[in-house]
Amino acid sequence: MSSDKITYEDVVRSVVDLLVRAETRLPDDVTAALTDAHQRETNPTAKEQIKTILENIRLASERNAPICQDTGILIFFVEIGRKCVLDFDIRDAICDGVEKATEIIPLRPNAVHPITRESSGNVGVGLPDIIFDLTEGDRIKITVLPKGAGSENVSRLAMLNPSQVADIRRFILKTVVDAGGKPCPPVIVGVGVGGSFDKAALLAKRALLRDVLDMDAFEREILADINSLGIGTMGLGGDITALAVHIEYAHCHTASLPVAVNIQCWANRRASVELTVGDRVV
Ligand code: SF4
Repeated sequence: MSSDKITYEDVVRSVVDLLVRAETRLPDDVTAALTDAHQRETNPTAKEQIKTILENIRLASERNAPICQDTGILIFFVEIGRKCVLDFDIRDAICDGVEKATEIIPLRPNAVHPITRESSGNVGVGLPDIIFDLTEGDRIKITVLPKGAGSENVSRLAMLNPSQVADIRRFILKTVVDAGGKPCPPVIVGVGVGGSFDKAALLAKRALLRDVLDMDAFEREILADINSLGIGTMGLGGDITALAVHIEYAHCHTASLPVAVNIQCWANRRASVELTVGDRVV
């Protein structure tokens, strides 16, 4: 399909396609990390659990069915090229796409009012969460990260004293220990260091978007520490509690040291789509 501008319908259709992909197919890097974990695991129970997870992933893809019954709340990262001219509210189009995908896939209606617990489907006040970034060029890139509650509920944030740099590692490990089997390990550990209270949390969430194998030496050290804890797959014991640790940094106030740890389950679902004038690139 070719047009001289990105339309409301282009965005709606792309969001539906994007959600189908994100909810039914795990990214290749995550599947590869789980396959590698299956080979390395020496605990027979954990090995069997990872095998079941891999079978689950295969069946979901074959049947176009959600990878997990908790299809998550939807977090969108939207990059908009500064040459893009949009004559509609892209937030409305994304919400429309979410509502259509909720019917088509289908997605579990996970959004509720925080006090009354009344359901609003998957769209509500502040949901889906949409984070915008301005970029160069004329493209829009939309990335979705469906986030289940099991892993989100055990995520933590600490406002450390600036003198507590050495405690960052301890806080990450304590968060993983306290989480135990609740976030469906093996997990991916996203960490945000610096910024402000909310910026640290956003950095930790963005860290989950990175390729699982993309880790520096410090991140690999912490990963080894986590995997020595013995929590194991689904908390049943074993060699592999986490697949990756990803840390993102931002400068912060001289009197602050915010640290956020956002835990992600093995179902590290994410997918992206790019739209540009004249064609659509997936
Ligand atoms: S934590 Fe992840 S794998 Fe476990 S139930 Fe929630 S979405 Fe599913």
